[in-house]
Amino acid sequence: MSENVRVRFAPSPTGPLHMGGVRTALFNYLFAKKHNGTFVLRIEDTDQTRYVANAEQYIINSLDWCNIPFDEGPGKNEKFGPYRQSERKELYKQYADELIAKGWAYYAFDTAEELDAHRKDHEANGKTFIYNWHNREKLQNSLALSAENVAQRIADGEKFVVRFKTPQDETLIMQDEIRGTIKIDTNTLDDKVLFKSDGMPTYHLANIVDDHLMQISHVIRGEEWLPSMPLHVLLYKAFGWEAPKFAHLPLILKPVGKGKLSKRDGDKLGFPVFPLAYTNEDTNDVSRGYKEDGYFAEAFVNMLAFLGWNPGTEQEIFSLEELIQSFDLERVSKSGAKFSPDKTKWFNQQYLQLKSAEELTKLYLPLLTEKGINADENYVQKVVTLIKERAVFVADFWDLSSFFFENPSSYDEKAVKKQWKDTTADLMNELVAVINTIEDFTVDNAQTVIKGWITSKEIGFGKVMQPLRLSLVGKLAGPDLFDIMTMIGKETTVKRITNAIENLL
Ligand code: GLU
Repeated sequence: MSENVRVRFAPSPTGPLHMGGVRTALFNYLFAKKHNGTFVLRIEDTDQTRYVANAEQYIINSLDWCNIPFDEGPGKNEKFGPYRQSERKELYKQYADELIAKGWAYYAFDTAEELDAHRKDHEANGKTFIYNWHNREKLQNSLALSAENVAQRIADGEKFVVRFKTPQDETLIMQDEIRGTIKIDTNTLDDKVLFKSDGMPTYHLANIVDDHLMQISHVIRGEEWLPSMPLHVLLYKAFGWEAPKFAHLPLILKPVGKGKLSKRDGDKLGFPVFPLAYTNEDTNDVSRGYKEDGYFAEAFVNMLAFLGWNPGTEQEIFSLEELIQSFDLERVSKSGAKFSPDKTKWFNQQYLQLKSAEELTKLYLPLLTEKGINADENYVQKVVTLIKERAVFVADFWDLSSFFFENPSSYDEKAVKKQWKDTTADLMNELVAVINTIEDFTVDNAQTVIKGWITSKEIGFGKVMQPLRLSLVGKLAGPDLFDIMTMIGKETTVKRITNAIENLL
């Protein structure tokens, strides 16, 4: 790509960032990095009624956690700043005025009540009221009223909005990098408000002006903005500016494959929809986050990358660097991407396996401390090596390894019924004697002696090994028994067997 790639993520700070928003940020980030471009964060806070104070920081923290920080944005390399639209509000009016002067926009004085009456009137006749070419000459605006009347109303302080004058009888032909050519009849569009009576621009005007001033080369955003694309393309035309390229990402669908994934689906189906936990400052409601639920950021990001994109190969595990190398808008699909909580867990499991025992030990030690266990780091590292393949989260480690640190506090009843027979206690007593003969209690020695003894008794291995497992672990689970025995040591092994004999009589 010869041009200078500049993309932006432009969230509105109305609450916590949904995972779909993180996916949009990620695709922008990947595209920027792939083309040695710039990833801009712009805060679109023109709608003061929906503004939530802690949302901007939440967005920034989420990008940081995902390791996809912005290059330019609030407080960082403010080359084209400010990056909060509320701090740019003085700037937009001149652009609304410019469009009026060029005949691409007009003043409209219709009150909310009047518009409502029109809407109701139309509904009563089975029609939909659209403010556009069809009726604009009959409404209260500068296209219908005389210049004097308009000037007088403005001088009198009457409230007005500025509307876009959508061209009539044109077929607008647009290009989307993902969807290809899109054609639309301009007569179906309404004359959108560009500038509100409170002196603030609407999303449409502010978005286009800022994308232009910030020299954005590609607009990569969610499919929900596709209906706005005709207006945006027309606005560039009206200003005489070169439009950026557009790419509308597919929707993220519910796990059932139908309907957009909503914030409520997470609560209903038991998975997070936000990257980080979020506390609503008004209600004190806490929403779960992937981070706090124990997901690795790399796993979350890898999973998100596959929501609407695929590399065209069998490879599924991609580091961020590999994603940057492989990412391509051409491989982003048009159709919705089904979110799968199970696949997300699978990604986490894969990333957990890729982590070194040393790294995982660092994560496990604080959990052990919480349990009141003060274990040697080398010992914990060995434990982690033995159990990690069965874990999806670090939080699973305790269930998989508690017996390395403390004696079982109970025994699985079903297993006891099945495995602890009348003759078992005698066998276990004999086993204790056998174990006591092993001087150097290594895996090899323990294995040779114990297996030799079982063979000499001509009984099945299970008759000894299953009750032994129950004695040491409390249930029929866990890694190799000889690993467990040598880790906890001869003395503890013997103690646990005698405990079991006493308790399971
Ligand atoms: N502020 C819009 C949002 O909240 C930005 C849409 C766009 O990227 O143009 O998603």
